[in-house]
Amino acid sequence: MAKPFQRIAVVGTGTLGAQIAMLAANAGYIVTVYDQRPGALGEMIQTLDEDLRKKRLEPFIPFDRWETCRRQIAERTDLDAAIKDAELIIEAVPENLELKRKVFKELGEKALPETILATNSSSIPVSNLEESSGRPERCLNLHFYMVLQGMNMADVMGGTRTLTEVKEKGIRWVRSLGCIPLTVKKELLGFCFNRVWRAVKREVLYMWANDFVDFQDVDRAWMKFTGREDLPGPFGLMDNVGLDVIYDIEMVYYRNSKDAKDHPPDALKQKIEKGELGVKTGKGFYSYPDPEYLRDEFLRAED
Ligand code: NAD
Repeated sequence: MAKPFQRIAVVGTGTLGAQIAMLAANAGYIVTVYDQRPGALGEMIQTLDEDLRKKRLEPFIPFDRWETCRRQIAERTDLDAAIKDAELIIEAVPENLELKRKVFKELGEKALPETILATNSSSIPVSNLEESSGRPERCLNLHFYMVLQGMNMADVMGGTRTLTEVKEKGIRWVRSLGCIPLTVKKELLGFCFNRVWRAVKREVLYMWANDFVDFQDVDRAWMKFTGREDLPGPFGLMDNVGLDVIYDIEMVYYRNSKDAKDHPPDALKQKIEKGELGVKTGKGFYSYPDPEYLRDEFLRAED
């Protein structure tokens, strides 16, 4: 497939930025990266490697290619050097509107005039950032999932003035990385699949918080339904993301709709106040490092 670009830059090489840089290197792009914390890329690649091995997951990029990809990524200690030749720049800095506006402003001032600016944000439509860049017609959302874990897909969504050719290039780029583009035709909070996942979360949190069901039964049903008995259901997944992060995301939807049904339950807030944040604190819905859903008896029919 003809590549839509040759040179790309990634700004912010944490959980997602590191994966995007690895994917682009794997697909043969010339990749430069900048993170305000030197060494962030190497540390994150190490973390991702350990996490995948612990979960015994076969990564999207085979382990024996990781070192080659890693060596093809040029780390720069200043932003100007990282982005100066890039035809596409994707930012993956933390989910904070003011920070992202600041980054988009700087990118708009420093990048080549033709360069496309993309955000990997999970919840901020690019229409909230495009003005800061001074080039709204060349901005778009490119929202990747946890690709190395096998979720090789990305939402593609334009802003209020994104040119068709810019969106099409974004779609071609996503495909060239071996990812499935999920095209969002009109601006929608949550994009394509995040919105589906969010509907699941809202429903199961309601069922649990109002004591209609035990959360374990929801997860059992989900594991059977998806045929993936090695992966957790919605409650185990929320533990993996972090219950504080889940709460914040649900609040973004609530603030947007102002519908009481969208407000996350108080019971979730109480867990967070007790420090039960999920995998990262050793307790969420389940206890870690040995969550119940990984035991054989979790899905056994007999008493
Ligand atoms: P992270 O905290 O793991 O990484 C963010 C990185 O950005 C860090 O390495 C940090 O040092 C760096 N950074 C902070 N300010 C910077 C700046 N001004 N310039 C350059 N680098 C800077 O975050 P993450 O989980 O990778 O999330 C990044 C983005 O991706 C967010 O918008 C998030 O919503 C989105 N996202 C995250 C996930 C996920 O599962 N973690 C999934 C999809 C999308």
